[in-house]
Amino acid sequence: MSELLPKCPKCEAEFTYQDGALLICPMCTHEWNPDNAVSGEKVYRDVNGNDLAEGDMVTLIKDLKVRGTSKTVKVGTKVKIGRLVDEDHDIDCKIDGFGAMKLKTEFVKKSG
Ligand SMILES: [Zn+2]
Repeated sequence: MSELLPKCPKCEAEFTYQDGALLICPMCTHEWNPDNAVSGEKVYRDVNGNDLAEGDMVTLIKDLKVRGTSKTVKVGTKVKIGRLVDEDHDIDCKIDGFGAMKLKTEFVKKSG
């Protein structure tokens, strides 16, 4: 466990612990979901848990078959995120040689 949990937003105690997707404060028993705490919007994270934003460069971490074709987008391919959408495949992007694609955030990692 290297991840620092945030303070309780209600009483500012520092004894937050995690239970599944929820964070719990033992001091005031407040429970909250860190992904929904700020904006209520979906949070997009790569395989390492880094936040992703539109326009970020990401790298594929596995070969991905292109649906309906015999083509494969190779692991290591760099992709610029076009749009982040609240769907199963949540990255809208264009890949050279393939055109418009949809990817899953769990199959990419953010590149520097
Ligand atoms: Zn609290």
